[in-house]
Amino acid sequence: MHPPSPRYHRILAVGLAIAVALWAVLGRKPRSQSPAPGPTAGAPAAADRPSIVLFTLDTTRADHLGCYGFDKARTPRLDELAAAGTRFALARTTCPLTLPAHSSILTGLEPFRHGVRDNAGYRLSDANATLAELLGAAGYETAGFVAAVVLGRASGIAQGFTTFEEPRRGNVPERVYPSVRATEVNAKVFEWLAARDRSKPFFLWIHYYDAHSPYEPPPEYAMGAASPYDGEISAEDAAVGEVLDRLADERDAGRLLTIVTADHGEGLGFRGEQTHAIYVYEPLVHVPLLVRWPAKGGGDHGGSALVGAVRADPVSVVDIFPTVLDAAGVAAPLRCDGVDLARAPQPDRRVYSESLHPWLNHGWSPLYALSGAGLKYIHSTQPELYAVAPGSVEGDDLVAKRPGDVAELRGELQAFLRDHTELGTADGDGRVELDSERQAVLKRIGYVGIDSRGIPLPQPFSLDADLVRATSERLERYTKATTPGLGFTLPQAIEELQKIVEEEPSEIAVLDCLGRLLVETKRTKEAHAPLERLLKLRPGHADGWGNLGACHQIEGNYEKAIECYKTALDLDPTSPGPLVNLAIVLEHLGRKDEAAEVRKKIEAQKKQ
Ligand SMILES: [Zn+2]
Repeated sequence: MHPPSPRYHRILAVGLAIAVALWAVLGRKPRSQSPAPGPTAGAPAAADRPSIVLFTLDTTRADHLGCYGFDKARTPRLDELAAAGTRFALARTTCPLTLPAHSSILTGLEPFRHGVRDNAGYRLSDANATLAELLGAAGYETAGFVAAVVLGRASGIAQGFTTFEEPRRGNVPERVYPSVRATEVNAKVFEWLAARDRSKPFFLWIHYYDAHSPYEPPPEYAMGAASPYDGEISAEDAAVGEVLDRLADERDAGRLLTIVTADHGEGLGFRGEQTHAIYVYEPLVHVPLLVRWPAKGGGDHGGSALVGAVRADPVSVVDIFPTVLDAAGVAAPLRCDGVDLARAPQPDRRVYSESLHPWLNHGWSPLYALSGAGLKYIHSTQPELYAVAPGSVEGDDLVAKRPGDVAELRGELQAFLRDHTELGTADGDGRVELDSERQAVLKRIGYVGIDSRGIPLPQPFSLDADLVRATSERLERYTKATTPGLGFTLPQAIEELQKIVEEEPSEIAVLDCLGRLLVETKRTKEAHAPLERLLKLRPGHADGWGNLGACHQIEGNYEKAIECYKTALDLDPTSPGPLVNLAIVLEHLGRKDEAAEVRKKIEAQKKQ
């Protein structure tokens, strides 16, 4: 989940005081890689292939860069890159959430095909073939450097990378996903570049998180910036420039493919959404996409013809995957939803975006968008239609005025989902599940009716007509109740959350926040109901199990606390709160050997 920040404390410290330092925990080792096809027959030897650098700028709106027409931007390095390559004026992401969008970038698949529909509770299945796996098999050195734990090893996104760096977990407990600045990412990148094997081409993926809230740019970028958010984008711009300077030799030799994009944009208050996760409106899904081709790249056009080119046809982040593979001379797998960007433009194309987050976290209608160069259709219990152009945001809803277009686009979306689904999915639904053994344990301690996956995924064309849609009022009410400093004291926030849950009993995110706040304020008797309802709806909610464990721990129900913590850790083995609390309970019960095992895990993860 990508909620506004800062939030009420995410991680509970119960029992003995828990040192924050203990939470310096890292993700798991990379999983075994799925077999990947080898290079194309007759393809160039590895040493003759271009190196590839892919930057993903988290939360960076296209219309906040100078090269996309924002006159207050301070993004000279990105503007320079656009002038030296191709700027895609109408690129859209598949989902306004970090893990689903990055999964699309690295697999070339729509979210319903790679199976990752949200951040929390999902992981990219090993059944997917990723850029790192395919390029690694073709003789590339592969290295990924991510700035936030949401893209850590536990998310499955690291599959195929020989070198993978993620931030240490838990140093900043008030943040949902611990993260580091671009300068810290770059320090690791530079170490790797200095030591790399120069006889091989490389695939280097760099993720920056600076533009993600909270916006706190360093003073040199804050000064004179149009907003703190824009200051963060300037910091990212400088970081991209520093990496490109280090790669000047490869670039000047015409042996570097450079791609810059974003996983999604940021609402900045558009229709009530400050951050991102819910809507599929343009501020959320229109992303920058800049490509600087190697000398032999550029497909139909030839590399040099693309200097300073601007493309206005609709493209998607799923197109990055076949573009990279083509430049590397590696055959793209048949399972690929993207189109090679070096090929001729398709002005009539429509691209897909979705957000199931409203459904999975709030019980609101999911949103599915099909966007072309002129019209954009958003499917939900209340369809919407907008006229769009590069750099514009949604204005008047044209649904009533243009029923013919609505019907046509609705039919197109239906066909798109059907045809792509028929092509096959990795495992249909990448939700993290409870195994049967764990379900049996939970049943034994009194939690009946908890199945492995909870609420089913919605069927887009048979949505319950009564399902409410996200609106500015709903979003603002939710944000005010869950964010400190927006007008409520803690007891008032709890009261407001209780009211929302009475009105919308499937408001999962509110149940989560309410349960946590009740435990933190030791109102454990009241905490059981919201937490148990949350876990019936989303049994894979690791935080929910952690909080329920804390609730039991405070009440002295240690056996139940232990099982809840173990469930949380089954779902997210790196979850620092449950790990530390589990050690404390075991120590309290005198179960020294078990406690020592848990402590060992904590220490081992600190060292990784
Ligand atoms: Zn993101």
